[in-house]
Amino acid sequence: MAHGGAGTRAMTAMQRTCLADALVTGYEVLGRGASSVEAVEMTIRVLESSGLFNAGVGSRLQLDGVRRMDASIMEGRTLRAGAVAGIQEVRHPIAAARLVMEETEHVLLVGEPATRFARYFKLKSDRQPFPGRVSFKLLRAQQASGPTRKTLNLYRAMRVRPTVGLETVGAVAVDRSGTVASGASTGGIALMLPGRVGDTPLIGCGVYADNGGGAVSMTGVGEGIIRLAVAKEIVDRLAAGASPALAARLVLNKLVTRIRGAAGALVLAPDGRFAIRHTTPRMCAGWWTGTGSPVVRDRFR
Ligand code: ASP
Repeated sequence: MAHGGAGTRAMTAMQRTCLADALVTGYEVLGRGASSVEAVEMTIRVLESSGLFNAGVGSRLQLDGVRRMDASIMEGRTLRAGAVAGIQEVRHPIAAARLVMEETEHVLLVGEPATRFARYFKLKSDRQPFPGRVSFKLLRAQQASGPTRKTLNLYRAMRVRPTVGLETVGAVAVDRSGTVASGASTGGIALMLPGRVGDTPLIGCGVYADNGGGAVSMTGVGEGIIRLAVAKEIVDRLAAGASPALAARLVLNKLVTRIRGAAGALVLAPDGRFAIRHTTPRMCAGWWTGTGSPVVRDRFR
């Protein structure tokens, strides 16, 4: 399963095609007998290199004009996890996250040292042109769950200009051995102060994977997702016996009622049951089980 972000905008035909390609890529990886971690990384790589989503080469700029990206990956058998935050000029932040998981004793690397770490492992670099600027007024109109007036005033005082981009990406998979994995990669949200980090690289918030429950990859406004540690709570509910649909519904309802958050979730159990749910008007996502064509839509309920 893969997603291309939750929000208000309808998915484009190119995004639909790209998500279907990413699903096929991930499924083929699993078909060769590779791990769910490998499938998640390869699925997300397709989305990161497309330029059609807010991740990898399509990432938004922060308000100082710098593109800083976040990504994470987790494996459900050993509970190993890796993540990067505020990494720059790397084509595949998800690959850097996996290297943190597999080549270090750590879970999260941030900022310039994370970029140097990626260089050390010779990950492809990426220097993309600026994706576009819009007025505060337009952004405010576009963002249902956008920043408060206080934040906007702060941005103005700092003389920073807002930017828009596309959507965060993520994937979950289960391999032949029954091991689940999840991952996510993002350029963040619109109107980000420099240095802002969302849920995506935070284990338990943007992603979680445990063979005892399942795998979750989140998208949406990271600040709310962090405050409820949403991914971990969904997995805990799976472990306690809830179905993927029920676990997602209960936790997303809590997100909305307690703190008026906005999010979407991919939820996968080790036995293959899954759910896609969102509190936003749309979520660009899909799945493929190897028969027929991949299913990709921008609304699930
Ligand atoms: N969750 C991401 C963040 O807050 C954004 C998104 O999913 O669109 O950085």
